[in-house]
Amino acid sequence: MTIRLFNSLTRKLEDFTPLTGNEARVYTCGPTVYNYQHIGNMRAYIFADTLGRALSFKGYDLKHVINITDVGHLTSDADAGDDKMEKAAAAQGKTAWDIAKFYQADFEADLARLNIRKLEHPRATEFVPAMIEWAKSIADKHCYQLDGGLYFDTSTVPDYGALARSKTDEGQSRIDPVPGKRHATDFAIWRTTPPGETRQMEWESPWGRGAPGWHLECSVMSRALLGFPFDIHTGGIDHREIHHPCEIAQNQAHEHSADSGARIWMHNNFLIDRRGKMSKSSGEFLRLQTLVDKGFHPLSYRMMCLQAHYRSEMEFTWEGLAAAFVRLKRLIQNAELDRLEYDLWLKRNNYTDMSPDEWLAHRLAGKNVEFVVESLAKFSVAIEDDLNTPSALSIYDGLSRAPLIESPWMMAVNKKVEPVLGLGLLDVPRADLRIRPASATLTEADIEARLIERKAARAAKDFATSDRIRDDLIAQGVEVMDGDLLGWDWKLDL
Ligand code: AMP
Ligand code: ZN
Repeated sequence: MTIRLFNSLTRKLEDFTPLTGNEARVYTCGPTVYNYQHIGNMRAYIFADTLGRALSFKGYDLKHVINITDVGHLTSDADAGDDKMEKAAAAQGKTAWDIAKFYQADFEADLARLNIRKLEHPRATEFVPAMIEWAKSIADKHCYQLDGGLYFDTSTVPDYGALARSKTDEGQSRIDPVPGKRHATDFAIWRTTPPGETRQMEWESPWGRGAPGWHLECSVMSRALLGFPFDIHTGGIDHREIHHPCEIAQNQAHEHSADSGARIWMHNNFLIDRRGKMSKSSGEFLRLQTLVDKGFHPLSYRMMCLQAHYRSEMEFTWEGLAAAFVRLKRLIQNAELDRLEYDLWLKRNNYTDMSPDEWLAHRLAGKNVEFVVESLAKFSVAIEDDLNTPSALSIYDGLSRAPLIESPWMMAVNKKVEPVLGLGLLDVPRADLRIRPASATLTEADIEARLIERKAARAAKDFATSDRIRDDLIAQGVEVMDGDLLGWDWKLDL
């Protein structure tokens, strides 16, 4: 079965067929590295990673780029105002280049903690000469110059805004009017530094010293790295309204074509909280590190994202995250047991390891293997159905919970599904999931020692001591869970 994906351009589910051979070329708009990423931003990259993993799972040769915006993004979608990078640099007394380096490294560390596969992350500043060449090639026919820089005339391309489904003046009405702009939707592709000023990041150009407009980088980088057209372009749903329509307009102008530049445009919906969309400027700014500081393993956030379909809004609550964490623990714990049993099984039976497909081919030898094979087929169908990860997860839950699936077949399952889910089923030991909150005063060893004391007190029927130890632990944020089904004697009291 081919994979079906929702194309924002046509607002329909479409079969994915590569434009060239077996290659799947994917471009994802990356972060603006002027600040930490919040967990809403990270949802966009978990989605892009899941798409990449699903395409690899389906056997395509994946070529995936996530760029780094280290220049050009203004503090609003407006064409006038400060560059986010320059503003952060001024506020922190650092150079814009240092700011970019620091937040890119922080972003990449978060990607790794979320099991997002490692990719190259080309930076926009590396492509400025190519952006100038691109702008030169479209300047005569599609642009006009104002004091503020070179503007793209959106009436010169067919159907501007088709992706957003907006009429010409909608969507962009919140953009500050710039004197001389011909249409509300026109946008800057080059921003000239005002006379008498100097920016930290600026380049010489035929339109004066300045910096590229934000939209230009993605047209230029995707073309340079993936060709024209390529297969899939992704981003958060806010990009469907302005950034991506502007990229499309630039592509059409540059290529003299009505082609948007990507065959399928895909957008993840927002992470919201009670106050609405999580954003850097409003609401609570939650970083992945904030979750870790509270004692949650980063992969519990990945689990939380996979539990929602990428096209649905997802509400963040601490209770929801705690539930995702429990689910993750259960799966990791079972997977670890399967790993241990499998190794013993191999030794006992004098077997050498086999590929998952080889194990599954031994259907008759294993109990319940028909169920395993059927469930794996359903798992594939769920992923092929526009990345239906909630459904894929519950199918996997069914397998993970099922009694009497012998370890070789469960290992085959884990080896098949982990490349898609990225939840650490093959290598994260359950002990790693027990993260102490930053505020913790007791070490793990302290807790274990107190629990041993408590067990001894209970065995001696000294309930006063046992209760006192429990109350002490509770006072320090550790809840003792007698008879916990998961076999975890304690959890963090959040
Ligand atoms: P930015 O660094 O602002 O360019 O955003 C990086 C990515 O995060 C973009 O793809 C945005 O569309 C996406 N994004 C921003 N806020 C949210 C949110 N609350 N939920 C999901 N994605 C978001
Ligand atoms: Zn972009």
